[in-house]
Amino acid sequence: MYKKLSTLLTILTLFTACQSSQDSVEDNSIKKKQPNVQEITVSREPEVFTLKPETPIVSEVYATFNLTTDLSHLSENQKKMIPILIETSKIMDSLFWLQSYGDKKTLLSSISDDNLRRLVDINYGPWDRLNGDKPLVNSQKEKSLGANFYPKGMTKEEFDSTSDNNKSSLYTILKRNNKGKLITEFYHEAYSEHLEKASKLLLEAALLADDNGFKNYLTLRAQALIDDEFKASDMAWMDMKTNAIDFVVGPIETYEDQLYGYKAAYEAYVLIKDKSWSKKLAKFSALLPILQKDLPIEEEYKTETPGTDSDLNAYDVLYYAGHSNAGSKTIAINLPNDETVQLAKGSRRLQLKNAMQAKFDKILIPISEVLVSPDQRKHITFPAFFGNTMFHEVAHGLGIKNTINGKGTVRTALKQFASAQEEGKADILGLYMVEKLYQMGELTEGQIMDNYVTFMAGIFRSVRFGSSSAHGIANMLRFNYFAKQSAFNFDEKTGYYSVNPEKMSTAIKSLSKKILTLQGNGDYDGVKKWVDEQGKVSPQLKAALDRLTKIPVDIVFNQGVEYLNLK
Ligand SMILES: [Zn+2]
Repeated sequence: MYKKLSTLLTILTLFTACQSSQDSVEDNSIKKKQPNVQEITVSREPEVFTLKPETPIVSEVYATFNLTTDLSHLSENQKKMIPILIETSKIMDSLFWLQSYGDKKTLLSSISDDNLRRLVDINYGPWDRLNGDKPLVNSQKEKSLGANFYPKGMTKEEFDSTSDNNKSSLYTILKRNNKGKLITEFYHEAYSEHLEKASKLLLEAALLADDNGFKNYLTLRAQALIDDEFKASDMAWMDMKTNAIDFVVGPIETYEDQLYGYKAAYEAYVLIKDKSWSKKLAKFSALLPILQKDLPIEEEYKTETPGTDSDLNAYDVLYYAGHSNAGSKTIAINLPNDETVQLAKGSRRLQLKNAMQAKFDKILIPISEVLVSPDQRKHITFPAFFGNTMFHEVAHGLGIKNTINGKGTVRTALKQFASAQEEGKADILGLYMVEKLYQMGELTEGQIMDNYVTFMAGIFRSVRFGSSSAHGIANMLRFNYFAKQSAFNFDEKTGYYSVNPEKMSTAIKSLSKKILTLQGNGDYDGVKKWVDEQGKVSPQLKAALDRLTKIPVDIVFNQGVEYLNLK
C-alpha cells in the first residue's frame, strides 16, 4: 500500500528534467545551482515516491529486471572490454557508498533481516530514497542533507566562514583537521586508492577500443579520475560519434548533496548503442523543418527554424553503478553538465531502451491491466511506448522559443509555468509528429492506435509520481483536456478507460494549437488560469489510481557479466 496518491501528491518535488516524457517527472527535492536552460541542466530523471512508514517489502516495491542486450555484433576486443568497464563501475559503486553513507560492509553485516539488508543495499544506506530518505533502521538518525560530503555536525555558518576556495568545488569533500577546523580534500586524494585502480582499468579498456574517439575518451577519462580535471574528457566524449560501446563514468550529478548541491557523486553506466534506433532518430530530427511548417497553427507561431543537429541516441544499459543505481532508475541521461563544454560542443541525450522496457513490462503493463479497457490493451506496445518517449524528445525542437509579441523568450514570459508548458508541448507535438510520420509513410511499424492507447497508459504511470513537477502538471492538463474532449473515456460501470481515436486526433490538433498559442503570446495569465483550473487530479482519476497499489513503483536490476553471456 505504498503509493497512495493522497500521500504522493503532498510530497516534495522537484524541478523538472525533460527527457523522457512518459517517464518524465522528477528530480530531487533540492535546488541545485540552476543554469538557465533547464532541459540541459537536469540531466537525469529519478522518480520520487512516498511510502508508508513501515519497512517496505522489497519484492512489493521493486520489480526485478535482467540487464542484457544483444552483443553479437561486437568485436572480440569489444567483448573483452565490457567486463573491464563493469569492474570499473563496481569501483564507482563503492565510491558512491562512501559518499552517501560510509562503510558499506559494516552496515550490511550488522543487519540480520534479509529484506531489510536488501533494502539498505538498494538504497546505498539506511534511508529510503523512495520515501523522502526516511530511516529504514530504527536506530538510525535522519540522513544528513550533505550526505557524507561534509563532516558530521557542520553548520552552514561554519561552512560560510571557511575561506578555503575549494569548499564549493564539485570534486572536494570537507573534513576537520586535528584542531577541528574545516579543510577540503580533492576526490583524487580522498579516494586515491579506488581511483588509481579505476584509472588503470580505463587505460586497459582503451587499449581494446576499436573506435578512435572512444579510445581517446577513455584515455582522457582515466587521467581525469586521478586529477579531477574532467573538461578534456567531456569534450572528447562529445567528439566521439561512431562508438558502439559507451561508458559514462565519474563524479557527475550533484543531487546527492542536498545541503548545497555542490558535490558530484560517483556513478557509471555501461552502454551499448542501438544503432538502428539512433539512425531513425537522426532521420526524424532531419524532418523537423517540414513538420514545423505543418504545425496546426497560424504562420506567425512557427517562424523559427528548428535545429536538426541534436545528438539523440538510443542505448541498452549493461550496468548501472553508484548514484545512477540508487533509488529510482534513470531512463534518460543528458550530459555533460559542464556548461563550457555544452557551449562548445552541445550536449548528448541518451535514451536507455532496456531500462524503459523494464518499466514498460513491470509497471506500465500491470497498470493497464487494471485501468485500460480490455479490448484496447492489445494497443499497449513497447515500440509505441519507446516511440512516444523519443518523439517527445524530438518535438522539443518544434514550435518557438521566443514570443511573437515582444515579451522576450517563452521561458521568461511564462516564468514558473514555462517548464510545464514546454513539457506539455513536447508531449503533444510528439504525438502530432507520430501522426504526421504515419501519414508520410515514414513510420511503418505498428499503428497510430498503439501510440494513442500507450500514451494514455503512460499518463497513468506518470501521474503516480505526483502532480507538483512540471511533468506532473503537464500530464494532468493533458489528461483533463483529453477527457473533456471525450478522447479519453471512462466507463463508470467497469472502471476502465479507453481512447476514442477520431476524437483523439482532433484533440491533438486543438491542444497543440492551444499550447503553441499560449507560448507564442507569452500568456502568463492564460497559463496560470489553465493550471489553476485543470492542473489537478480529478476525484475520478484519483479513485482509479488508488486501485494501483499492488503494482511496484520501481525497478531493481540483475546485472553483471553473468547476465551477458560473455564467457
Ligand atoms: Zn521533455
